[in-house]
Amino acid sequence: MTPPKIYGLIGYPVKHSLSPYMHNAAFKALGINAEYKLFEKRPEELGYFLHSLSKENIYGLNVTIPYKEVVLKYLQWKSPEVKFTDAVNVIIVKDKNYLEGWNTDGIGFHRHLTMDLKFNPLGKSVVVLGAGGAAKAIINQLARHRAKNITIYDIDNDKSLNLTAKINKEFPKCNAIASDSIEKLALKNADLLINATPIGMKGDDPCLVDPDSLHPSLLVYDLIYNPPETKILKLAKQKGAPISNGLGMLLYQGVRSFELWTGQKAPVEVMRKALREATRKCSEKY
Ligand code: NAP
Repeated sequence: MTPPKIYGLIGYPVKHSLSPYMHNAAFKALGINAEYKLFEKRPEELGYFLHSLSKENIYGLNVTIPYKEVVLKYLQWKSPEVKFTDAVNVIIVKDKNYLEGWNTDGIGFHRHLTMDLKFNPLGKSVVVLGAGGAAKAIINQLARHRAKNITIYDIDNDKSLNLTAKINKEFPKCNAIASDSIEKLALKNADLLINATPIGMKGDDPCLVDPDSLHPSLLVYDLIYNPPETKILKLAKQKGAPISNGLGMLLYQGVRSFELWTGQKAPVEVMRKALREATRKCSEKY
């Protein structure tokens, strides 16, 4: 029997990742002879690992913290999303000396937003907290799909200024604004608020915005999925606002990764079910 094609996640650490559950369920459902593994590599192991992919029968990788930017120098081709964000979360091994880099985070977010949450960004006003890697990926998609205004706040104002300049240059129909203060964010007039900072992952993390500014016509989307309901989501729910955590984004970035690697349509519902079960198992364990 031919050995399975290997796919996997490279990062440090990676042991809590939910990705193996959804990808292995998808391979099984479609009868594909492949296996998704976790590759926890230290920085000094990265170069050797990326040069040995073909030898190890590895056909594709997801990339996570802290290597999303570091892997850029090993790539022979970069997608437009990678060029915009300077970050990679998918590698396709075309052959021994040819690696393609893709970024499916933004596309995953957009698919979840439009297909599951039925929110069309066209003409909408959006506020984004954070201007890091994930924020760049989702803001690129929001601008591409014609959001009217995007206000960006990051603790490091230079990051917000750089990102808004890039958006306004590439997408002249979208008005991107950098806010230098969280108090100045005009949430009353916004349709969508996104938390793309890590604030909310720890139980005692604060809600970054004034809870009184949250309202029922504001969709509050937190990219964090563990915990499933961060403080900002809890408070938004209390104010009658629709909410979402980042599990749907995780699902659809995985769906797109799967499609890029296999060239086949991903079994979305199989992957969603596997992810839900894995989340439940992990929350029981920790
Ligand atoms: P990142 O590159 O470190 O970006 C986070 C940004 O938030 C940084 O610019 C950071 O500034 C800023 N920040 C930190 N504290 C802040 C505060 N109090 N107020 C305003 N800005 C603040 O991280 P990332 O990769 O973009 O990830 C961001 C979050 O998204 C993480 O929680 C991650 O787990 C989540 N994520 C989810 C998915 C998914 O599929 N659901 C995918 C990717 C990421 P400093 O660098 O100066 O601290």
